[in-house]
Amino acid sequence: MDAAPLSSLFEFLPIGAYRSSPGGVQLRANRTLVKMNGYASEAEMLAQTHHLDTSWYVEPGRRQQFKALMERDGHVVNFDSEVYRHKTRERIWVREHAHVVRDAAGGILFFEGTVQDITESRNAQQTLMESEARWRLALEATGDGVWDWHVQASKEYCTDGLLRMFGYGPGELADSPDTLDGRTHPDDLGQLERDRNAHFSGAVATYTNEHRVQCKDGSWKWVLSRGMVVSRDDLGRPLRMIGTHTDISARKAAEALVWQQANFDALTGLPNRRMMRHRLDTDLLRCAQEGRKLAVLFIDLDHFKEVNDTLGHDSGDRLLVLAAQRISACVGTGNTVARLGGDEFTVTLCEAGRPGTAVHNLHRQLQAILDVLSQEFQLGGERVFVSASIGVAMFPDDATAVEDLFKHADQALYSAKGAGRNRFCFFTPELQQAAITRARLDHDLRGALAAGQFEVFYQPIINLRTGAVRKAEALLRWHHPSRGDVSPSQFIPVAESSGMIMDIGDWVFRAAAAQVAQWRRTLDPNFQISVNKSPVQFHQKAAGRSSWPHLLAEFGLPGSSIALEITEGLLLDTSADVAAHLRGLGDAGLELSLDDFGTGYSSLLYLQKLDIDFLKIDKSFVCHLKAGGTELAMCKAIIVMAHELGMRVVAEGVETPLQRDLLVAAGCDYAQGYLFAHPMNATAFEVFAQAQAPEGSSWH
Ligand code: C2E
Ligand code: CA
Ligand code: CA
Repeated sequence: MDAAPLSSLFEFLPIGAYRSSPGGVQLRANRTLVKMNGYASEAEMLAQTHHLDTSWYVEPGRRQQFKALMERDGHVVNFDSEVYRHKTRERIWVREHAHVVRDAAGGILFFEGTVQDITESRNAQQTLMESEARWRLALEATGDGVWDWHVQASKEYCTDGLLRMFGYGPGELADSPDTLDGRTHPDDLGQLERDRNAHFSGAVATYTNEHRVQCKDGSWKWVLSRGMVVSRDDLGRPLRMIGTHTDISARKAAEALVWQQANFDALTGLPNRRMMRHRLDTDLLRCAQEGRKLAVLFIDLDHFKEVNDTLGHDSGDRLLVLAAQRISACVGTGNTVARLGGDEFTVTLCEAGRPGTAVHNLHRQLQAILDVLSQEFQLGGERVFVSASIGVAMFPDDATAVEDLFKHADQALYSAKGAGRNRFCFFTPELQQAAITRARLDHDLRGALAAGQFEVFYQPIINLRTGAVRKAEALLRWHHPSRGDVSPSQFIPVAESSGMIMDIGDWVFRAAAAQVAQWRRTLDPNFQISVNKSPVQFHQKAAGRSSWPHLLAEFGLPGSSIALEITEGLLLDTSADVAAHLRGLGDAGLELSLDDFGTGYSSLLYLQKLDIDFLKIDKSFVCHLKAGGTELAMCKAIIVMAHELGMRVVAEGVETPLQRDLLVAAGCDYAQGYLFAHPMNATAFEVFAQAQAPEGSSWH
């Protein structure tokens, strides 16, 4: 066989090279191939490998495949096989390229080819595949879906677990990046791309993004996607990115719930204070830009507490829901209705239409809200009527900051309630002044007790049958060093809201107890003083205070020397504390007097529940008394009913002889009023009482 000479290049190639007969006899082998087969020299190898073709490949049929390809194509490329390192029988992987060398007539002379040891890179790839399979398994085991994106080839492979997450079976979707991107919520795509690009550019080490993906059934699922580019091309552009999808729908739902609860009222579904503030911030900005006015309304239901207490909390809740609906229906879109808590609602009304038309429209809207709220409410079987009071503050006229608008609307509400409820009231600087005065009073009250600025006055309570004065009402006076005398109707509410009423009330009680002890000696052994006790005094914990019955015992006085004047509202209080407190006072023998009767919510039912001794008809009835009038009819009815229930009746605010006479004729037991005497200090009272008609005399 005519062997064409091989160049020295052949000898020194870094990969194996050979020439062989088609029958498999090695004719030449270069150094690399000799070494690859475990031999020391070409001569040694050629002597040993006549039958290399049959004993080299690990897989016996491999040589036949090789020869078939050579015969058909004249060459083989990238022919990878596992072979024996011939001398040592160690297995290695090789990659062959070979071609056929022919003579002029086309007959096969021999084969020439190269052999490359690819064991190492194959092993590396194998390890890679194994480890890849392992991490896929690991990731999938956590319940995550795995994706593998070949960026430039535009292929994306999703694991079965990932497809399952969205309701798809294996192979049901194309291996395309659009499979996931195309199912991403349009609102989330922008952020997703920003996050992805931040990672592509190398700005962030890993990609993370939360977005919604549409499932097979059309629903949306929240996923947390995390990933990393694992290979890049020479220019640094991403080639391949691998990542996971974690189903975070449950967490998102929980977050949404938390958000809902943080921003909305659970009962009515309206925005709460927080949300209202948030929206108002935006509204104010817009109104400021457009030169529009905005009204902030504070709405408070009148007598809500009574409904709650008499009909129960379920009915109260129902009332709030209905009220919320009615208010919302009155208020156009673009405005906010919120519930701030309890029976307080807030509404913001942006001026619509031409700027400057606000006030006229606003009055109509306010009246509309009052109207719908004063209509009948159907609560279970009951028909209930309430009304509402509304305080209004205007942006930007009254204030520009949210906090100030709220404060002013609240002040206006306070004034609407003070003016008799079922009305709206706009904030005015005078209201602000009144609020400031309240704040000053609050401040000054703190030092008043210690500074000895209080004095108790006494107003006689006349026995209408005999004219005798055996009772008096204790009425507190505050001699303010710079303001002069401040009326209790001004400072008692302030003391109630600050809690100072506790100390002040105790002080009045001690003063009255000391006084009644004295007058029992000097005026009448059965003298009785009535002391006002506000509801707040029943609610505050009396830690560290002597109880009033205990104080009386210290003075050596029986319970009957004091009557406590309480208001109707207290009777409606169903709390066990209040009932127990009242019972404790009753057990100690103190008498109970129901003050201002007729002004509160009708509570006849409650009169029986407690042992009331006296009923005081409010002066608003007494001052209108005339023969044949409705007030007289009402007074008569009240007196009859009270007597039926074993109570005695005191008429308050008697200013004229006519009023007195009508009350006497109606059978009223006692009277109190300027006709007889104004409240006066203890010394003056004693003089007055001693000058009164002795027991047994009569008015007629
Ligand atoms: P009240 O308990 O209804 O007291 C009756 C009020 O009517 C007193 O006002 C009294 O001066 C006034 N008055 C008496 N006779 C007449 C009359 O003929 N015509 C008119 N128009 N008014 C008359 P005052 O002393 O200004 O007290 C106002 C309110 O302050 C009291 O109303 C009571 O609710 C509260 N108050 C007074 N002292 C105390 C106290 O020591 N503790 C508590 N908790 N509240 C008190
Ligand atoms: Ca009173
Ligand atoms: Ca009264």
